[in-house]
Amino acid sequence: MADPEEAIEFDPSDFPACPICGTDRWLLKHSGPVRDGAYGRSVSSSIRSCAGCGVERLAEGACLESVAYREDTYRRHVGQDHDIGRHYASHDELALFTLQTIWPTSLRGKRVADVGCGGGSLLDHMRGLPEQIVAVDPAEGFAQSLISRGYRWFPTVGKAAEEFAGQIDVAFAIQVIKHVDDPREFLDSIRSLLKPDGQCVVSTPNRADILMELLPDAFPAFFYRTQHRWAFDADSLSACARAAGFHVDSVRHVHRYGMANSLLWLRDKKPSGRSSLEAIDGSADALWRMWLESTGRADNLYLILRAPS
Ligand SMILES: [Zn+2]
Repeated sequence: MADPEEAIEFDPSDFPACPICGTDRWLLKHSGPVRDGAYGRSVSSSIRSCAGCGVERLAEGACLESVAYREDTYRRHVGQDHDIGRHYASHDELALFTLQTIWPTSLRGKRVADVGCGGGSLLDHMRGLPEQIVAVDPAEGFAQSLISRGYRWFPTVGKAAEEFAGQIDVAFAIQVIKHVDDPREFLDSIRSLLKPDGQCVVSTPNRADILMELLPDAFPAFFYRTQHRWAFDADSLSACARAAGFHVDSVRHVHRYGMANSLLWLRDKKPSGRSSLEAIDGSADALWRMWLESTGRADNLYLILRAPS
């Protein structure tokens, strides 16, 4: 772990004033390899933490450019593409975690928007329940498929707002805020879609992940990556949501992997996905997950936000 006092000097074009709180003081958190796309490639860069609101960011010079999300560049960068079948294979499981997390909120009869919906995996899992589904994603490669499945597709929140401002009951932004140029403006734009008291469900990787604590030399180089400009914990994401005019209804920590994933990281110092260990069964997984989620050390964060009345 880098000492925050060690390197005060930085290039302001890499760390401009924080768009969430306006502070221009950034403390060094990580210096060295940052994952570049799929596991195995890296670049050398730095991560700093905002002295005001606590958000962390990657040096701008190492960030994947915004235009990448409109074209094929982003999905190629992370080893994916706009093949809809492959999109389902990697995103259907995430949809299940999201729907479990929002319960007991029911989507029946509601107007729902998914901002950064990709190929629409989450939308497919709720199909039939909402009265109206709005799909927002800049990736034109998925647009035809989304439209043919009956969703109203828009490339940006701004375009969706021309028709749906103030009309959405529940908006989702699942694993999107880590990529955007300005997280506060992003949430603010989603708020413009919502009815009074409408809900916004935001998820992002949790930088308080247990492996950041247990493997401070090996895990940050995997956790931080060039396609993620921002890294949040529960407090900094809540601060961002409040700055964007939301009330934070609840913070939920969700761990997506079993105990074997953590043990194999400790043993091998590299990712193993869903590989199993013979001695680790479902009850060990459940216990591990429950402990991580109850202590805020899970791999993902979900915030349930509410727009003003
Ligand atoms: Zn800040």
